[in-house]
Amino acid sequence: MGPPGAGKGTQGELLARHMGVPRLSTGEMLREARANRTELGRRAQAYMELGDLVPDEVVLGLVAEALDGPRSPAGFILDGFPRTIAQAEGLSEILQERSTPLDGVIFLEVPEEELVRRLTGRSANESRSDDSPETVHRRLQVYQAETEPVIRWYADHDVRLIEADGVGSIEEIQIGLRRLLDS
Ligand code: ADP
Repeated sequence: MGPPGAGKGTQGELLARHMGVPRLSTGEMLREARANRTELGRRAQAYMELGDLVPDEVVLGLVAEALDGPRSPAGFILDGFPRTIAQAEGLSEILQERSTPLDGVIFLEVPEEELVRRLTGRSANESRSDDSPETVHRRLQVYQAETEPVIRWYADHDVRLIEADGVGSIEEIQIGLRRLLDS
């Protein structure tokens, strides 16, 4: 977990490769659905363009489907999900049905000024359609209103929270993250 621009995708991918587990990113699943012009993708598009969250039942459906396939014995990393308390509750049900408890929640911490700089500064070839200044502002707002409370929810449900420093070079952050997980 972490705010938009924290580097969840980059760090999650490196960590998944290091641990030999699949990474499931709801943002990527949604972008893929949108690119393939599926009905779900068309439904998600309007929300994503505005920087709003895609409805919980849509995202929960995607995650349930992704976890329905063959299981990776070493587990998996969820990236960008859950983003609302309803999603955290839904995930908890999905995992209970599969008897695969959550090992922990990694929170990637980055100060807000740095986030704005990163999101508005993505160079043309890596920038996304939801990187316009208005949308960036909206995504940060939505994060504070909807996603930050999920961290508290996990604390109240005795899930281990691992707070990692999201500032520095990609390598430095990854090394810090692995060190935290090892300890
Ligand atoms: P970022 O973390 O930088 O915002 P993501 O790729 O994780 O990027 O998400 C991009 C967009 O996809 C979000 O702004 C939102 O509209 C949608 N999205 C991704 N994951 C979720 C989710 N778990 N719940 C609702 N919407 C989501």
